[in-house]
Amino acid sequence: MKKIMLIGENISESLSPAIHNGAIEYLGLGGKYRYELMPVAAENFCSEIKKIMADENAAGFNITAPYKCRIIDYLDEIDNFTQKCGACNYVKKEKGRWIGKNTDGYGFIMPIIKMGFGIAHKSAVVMGAGGAARAVVLQLINNGIGSITLINRDTAKAAVLKEHICKVSGFGSENFIIYSYLDLQNDKFSSIMLAADLIINATSAGVEEKRLPVLFNAAMFNKSQIIYDLSYMAKADDDFKQSARAASAVYIDGREMLMYQALVSFVQWTSKKPPVWLLRKIVFDALDGVK
Ligand code: NAP
Repeated sequence: MKKIMLIGENISESLSPAIHNGAIEYLGLGGKYRYELMPVAAENFCSEIKKIMADENAAGFNITAPYKCRIIDYLDEIDNFTQKCGACNYVKKEKGRWIGKNTDGYGFIMPIIKMGFGIAHKSAVVMGAGGAARAVVLQLINNGIGSITLINRDTAKAAVLKEHICKVSGFGSENFIIYSYLDLQNDKFSSIMLAADLIINATSAGVEEKRLPVLFNAAMFNKSQIIYDLSYMAKADDDFKQSARAASAVYIDGREMLMYQALVSFVQWTSKKPPVWLLRKIVFDALDGVK
């Protein structure tokens, strides 16, 4: 039996085992693969990773916070996107070598592509400057985005992201603007939101009841925009989600991204493709109480 794992720190609530084991069962691969949670504490990371990699039955793993960067040093190879992004969330053993990729960018862009929205020369506002924001920004650039406005509490972190991404992608720094929420009075914040084609929340606000430092309202959005929240835990009364819907903008839930990044991982580990409807059903059923 081949083991596929999720490695991370606080992963007990993760939907990944339900998604992957659901797909394994559906495709009749139950005798061949099993997806397991593998919680790893930071102080044991090095020894645990070496143990996992030495396990004959380990076929691959997903890796999440806080190890998406740290894992890269242990891998034999990473793809170009992962190298540019500096964060890896997918690993597969191929002919005894450990190959890392980043599936967040793909998971992020697929729902936008599926709805036929062209990104080339458009403008995006991205809130957040963590690992997910890096993958989002790089994927937007790869798809021809015209300009990016990045808003983050910690502007030094945002500046590091900007410098790194502009360097590795060749994106013009004059088209990449950084703000802190504190720089933006209400009118300025609203006008930045209204001028954007895509508005993406790539922060972890919303988790553990943390809030973004702004309160959204419907007048900040319009019906030709895409409003995308990477969080798959946003509640129905969340002001970002509610305002997007009240403005008749297209709202994309992080559950779609979760589903697509799981799909691409599964296909690469097993060479079998579960139907999209199955993964969507597993994800949406599991989070039914959150909507
Ligand atoms: P991360 O590396 O820890 O970064 C978190 C970011 O959120 C930082 O930029 C932080 O700002 C910002 N932030 C946190 N609390 C905030 C608040 N109250 N107000 C404003 N900004 C706040 O996390 P990550 O890995 O990038 O993940 C970000 C989010 O994306 C999480 O919700 C995660 O679940 C989601 N995600 C979803 C998927 C999916 O498949 N749907 C995939 C990956 C990630 P500072 O820098 O100022 O501290």
